[in-house]
Amino acid sequence: MGTGVLKRYKDLLPITPSTPIFSLGEGETPLITAPRLAEKIGCKELYFKFEGCNPTGSFKDRGMVVAVAKAMEEGSKRIICASTGNTSASAAAYGAYCGLESWVVVPKGNIAMGKLAQALMYGTRVIAIEGNFDEALSIVRALVKSSPITLVNSVNPYRIEGQKTAAFEIVDELGKAPDMLCIPVGNAGNITAYWRGFVQYCKLGKSGSTPMMLGFEAAGAAPIVEGRVIESPQTVASAIRIGNPASWQGAVQARDESGGIIDSVTDEEILESYHTLASDVGVFGEPASAASLAGLFKLARGGTMDLSSKSVVCVVTGMGLKDPDTALKTRADIIETPAELEAVRNALGL
Ligand SMILES: *Cc1c(COP(=O)(O)O)cnc(C)c1O
Repeated sequence: MGTGVLKRYKDLLPITPSTPIFSLGEGETPLITAPRLAEKIGCKELYFKFEGCNPTGSFKDRGMVVAVAKAMEEGSKRIICASTGNTSASAAAYGAYCGLESWVVVPKGNIAMGKLAQALMYGTRVIAIEGNFDEALSIVRALVKSSPITLVNSVNPYRIEGQKTAAFEIVDELGKAPDMLCIPVGNAGNITAYWRGFVQYCKLGKSGSTPMMLGFEAAGAAPIVEGRVIESPQTVASAIRIGNPASWQGAVQARDESGGIIDSVTDEEILESYHTLASDVGVFGEPASAASLAGLFKLARGGTMDLSSKSVVCVVTGMGLKDPDTALKTRADIIETPAELEAVRNALGL
């Protein structure tokens, strides 16, 4: 046991005697039960795996700690990534901890304010391109071919390895795998990682089954659902605004091997679940994170699957505070009054 995924899951990660072991406190995130919402949806048990509780506020930290540890082991001095925001925050933090130089390439004007603030505060060099995430990723992939820099996007296999630990934690806590796992899909690294984690745990005899994997893309950025690359993906959920996922095959494999689905949810559905998650469960995720609950609602509405005997885990991938703009734009009902008791009493309808 101990703090951090490197220590806790040492035997299940690609760690050698020369891999440095360190942690910013990633992993061991809460699995929150939501009985009232479970009843509303009509499933037996509902849990939210709140990955916003990681040190930089997203699940990216699980994979980043492994990727950066391996970069250190290999003697690398610099790391680079393309990012819709959270990967850059995570790379910057772990890079800072290890004294590595870090560079991030982001789509200009399209990254949430909190994420940009994180990357800048951790002391990374931020390059904003006049293009989207997919273009940023192809640029950094080309850069690392000709320069000695470690790429820490999820095409780095250590990222996926580290992210598997979230699946381990769910099984460790529930004592078995849930029947279904709902997860947002952007670059598709995370759904790939969870599936590998569940399969590995099953093979090790730590769970008797694997869950049905239910992945959800945003409707304006749904390459896997539509079966084609989306040239200019659009969605309010910036963390999954991706038109050509690097782990496309991994996602398809997770879907097919688990008997699951990959579907899409509209921005309207995402925002509705974003609000429901915060106001009915007390979990403030970022917009992309709400795609998992939006997908579960869609599935329940569709009525094609009997959920009444199912335990469901929805992954809440990142923290809502990262994107205060979307919160304040969609919830503006502040009542202003003079600083007088009567005025406040009236405003409260007392
Ligand atoms: C990265 C990210 C996703 C998408 O994960 P992929 O592995 O790219 O599919 C979803 N939500 C948040 C908050 C993220 O940071």
